[in-house]
Amino acid sequence: MVGGGLCRALNTHAWDIFGAIVILRDNNRRVTLLCRRCETTRQDVWATNGKMLTRYYKHGSEYSAFIKDYDRQEARGYLLTQIKAVEAPREKEHGKGNNPDVRLARKHVARRGDVRALEQPGKTPKS
Ligand SMILES: [Zn+2]
Repeated sequence: MVGGGLCRALNTHAWDIFGAIVILRDNNRRVTLLCRRCETTRQDVWATNGKMLTRYYKHGSEYSAFIKDYDRQEARGYLLTQIKAVEAPREKEHGKGNNPDVRLARKHVARRGDVRALEQPGKTPKS
């Protein structure tokens, strides 16, 4: 359960809109979302101005079992036992600008910084 473990560990799902958005009798919209990692579904009702009216979750069976056994910290600990880790690259004293490992690591750090800059508490980053 690595994918769903990530949902538990990060307290967020990887939602995609699933199927059609349905126009309800009161003109509100029913939107069904599916997590591509753990198969949890979420059914929302949105007003036409985007206001969230209701939200209902149904966990996938494997994810349901997982969250009974693992709180968020335990889920992160579990992931650390399941996913291979590598040593951080060490900079060479000479010619460090040409070390491809260091360049790759710096690029990765910069990318993470970009993501953090987009995320604000309580707001969903726009994609
Ligand atoms: Zn999920």
